[in-house]
Formats: sequence, structure tokens, C-alpha cells
Amino acid sequence: MESILALTFDEFKDRIVDLLVPRYRAAQIYEWIFQRGATTFDEMTNLPVAFRQELSKLYKFPKLEVSHLNSLDGTKKFQFMLEDGHIIESVWMPEEKRNTLCVSSQVGCAMKCAFCVTGAIGFKRNLTAEEIAMQVWAIKCVEKLPLTNVVYMGMGEPLLNIDHVVRSIELLTDKIGIAVGKRRITVSTVGIVPKIREFVAKTDVKLAVSLTGTNNIDRDHWMPINKSHNLEKLTSELKSIPWAEGRKITFEVVMIKDKTDSENQARELAKLLQGIPSKVNLIPYNENSFFPQLKTPSPEKIEKYKQVLLSQGVFAMIRLNRGADIMGACGQLAGQSLGQNA
Ligand code: SAH
Repeated sequence: MESILALTFDEFKDRIVDLLVPRYRAAQIYEWIFQRGATTFDEMTNLPVAFRQELSKLYKFPKLEVSHLNSLDGTKKFQFMLEDGHIIESVWMPEEKRNTLCVSSQVGCAMKCAFCVTGAIGFKRNLTAEEIAMQVWAIKCVEKLPLTNVVYMGMGEPLLNIDHVVRSIELLTDKIGIAVGKRRITVSTVGIVPKIREFVAKTDVKLAVSLTGTNNIDRDHWMPINKSHNLEKLTSELKSIPWAEGRKITFEVVMIKDKTDSENQARELAKLLQGIPSKVNLIPYNENSFFPQLKTPSPEKIEKYKQVLLSQGVFAMIRLNRGADIMGACGQLAGQSLGQNA
């Protein structure tokens, strides 16, 4: 049976006509699902009972087995149990001017970055477009948490699931559906070079690239994908893409104490990014029990790194460390069951 979240409003409208009911029924149903957060057809009391029954034979709602953990800083980590029993995680982060949801694009991840917990648990499978959209629908429309931005920075490598990710963006940005603004979506990749151009051609959301290593020796170590798609290939591809005016690529660099946080590395990074419209996000390492030897640098050390970048004309920001107390921060999503609702 097809998921009710798998269609855009226009597609659904056409299906509804096939059922020999008036078109306005489509708008009623979408209002229930996306404005009121209905999770069954039974609740849709302004539809004839027989029609509700017919709909539930044709479309299913995603199973919403959700549990969540609250961080002291306001961040919430949600876990969803998928139909096949796999668990994925999404993290909601309230901020002053925006509220961001970090979504997963795969169950686990195959990239094996040497600092990331998701990589340590390995790859299980791709998510479908509706499983990705479901995370946003559940939090924005059902839980009704305020939500302005979506980042594909949860579990998984989005560009290795490009078709479903592109389709999920269509679902998320459907104005009568989940209705997230295109400019408010960022997809983050480890840098699957042959897929970047394809992705940029198919959708115009923002792109972020995880670097962490600023030369090939370091990056081979931290991000094994560098062995197939190294920094020269990555940067020359990014330079050759005709970016729209004003569009910047975000580069993410994980700051690991005494490993990736030196001033020399900051200078190396500035050089690497020459000629690419870029800004840098410095992510203080989130410590975890999988990689106990990796530590967070002092705030002063990260600030110094940032100052070097700024002095070289590279715009840089330090990412706040959110949700670390609930293993909800960058690189901490492992999909281990939380058990009871927190
Ligand atoms: N696979 C994509 C999407 C995940 S984004 C990508 O890597 O870009 C997750 C971000 O968190 C990446 O930038 C990654 O480098 C970073 N990260 C992973 N583990 C981390 C950790 N323990 N502490 C801080 N950042 C981490």
C-alpha cells in the first residue's frame, strides 16, 4: 500500500478525481494531514465514512512509533521505528531566529569517517523519500513544534541516496503539504564528487561539504571517501560548477583536539577554498564512548583557528554544540533504542 506522504498535492488531486469524488476533497484531506496533524483517515470527520474507508484501503499513514529525549539546552532527539524495525533519528534545535530539524537520509552510514558514531555502526539501507519527509511531517505537523529550517545532517550520506533525497525535497517544499522553504534546506555531503553536479542540477537547496582534513594525508585518515574522491577532485569540481549569484557552499570542519585544530591547518584550509564561494562551519568535536581518544579543543583554540580563517578572507562560524547530553549532537546518532518515552 502506498504511503499518504509519498505524493505531492498536485499528484494526489489527480488520484482523487479517479475515485469519482470532487476535487475539493483533496484539499480537505491535505488540511487534515498537514495543518491539523491527523494520523488516520478516521479522524477526518468532514469526509463521508465510506470515503474514509476507501482511502484507508488505498493509502497508509507512516507508523509513528516515536520516542524522544530532551536536552538541557532545548534540543530534542526523536527516534522513529521504521516498518522493518530499523531506528532512525532526527534532532530538533530551537534557536532565537529559527528552529532547525536535522534529518536522516539513510539507516546508518557506509562512509566510516574515523570520528563519527553513525559510521561506526555501519550502513543498513537507504531511506525512501517518504521516510525522509515523514521525519519533518511528524515534528512540524503532528508534534507541532515550530520549524523553519531542515538540514540533511543526520544519519547517512545523502548523495548516495540521491534520487530519494531529491524526491524528498519535492515533498518537503510542497506548499500545500509540509511547506518548508527551498532556501531553508541544506544538504550536507562527504563530497561524492561525481554526484555533486547531478545534485545541483536537480535541486537548488543549499549545499554543505564536510572536510575536516585539510590535506589528502589527513583527510584520507579521517574520511576514507577521500581515497576515491580527493581534495583536488573535490575542489576542482566545486570550482567548475556555475553557482548562482550569492550562493555559498558551507564547508564543515570538525575540530578535534591536537588533530585538526592547528593554525597551520587553518591556513591550509583557507588556501584550499580559494576561488570557491564559501563559508566555514567549525564543529567542536562531540566526545563519545566509541572514540574515547578524540577530544574537544578548548574554545580559545577554536576561536584562534577561526581568526586565522577570517584574516585570510574566509568567512567562518563556530557551530554551537547542541544536544550532546542526549547523544543528539553531530556525529552522535547511532539509532540505539531509547526504550521508554523520555
Ligand atoms: N554524511 C553527510 C551528512 C552528515 S552531516 C556528511 O558527512 O556531511 C554530519 C556532520 O557531523 C558532518 O559534518 C561530520 O563531519 C560531523 N561529525 C561527525 N561526527 C562528529 C562528532 N563526533 N563531533 C562533531 N561533528 C561530527
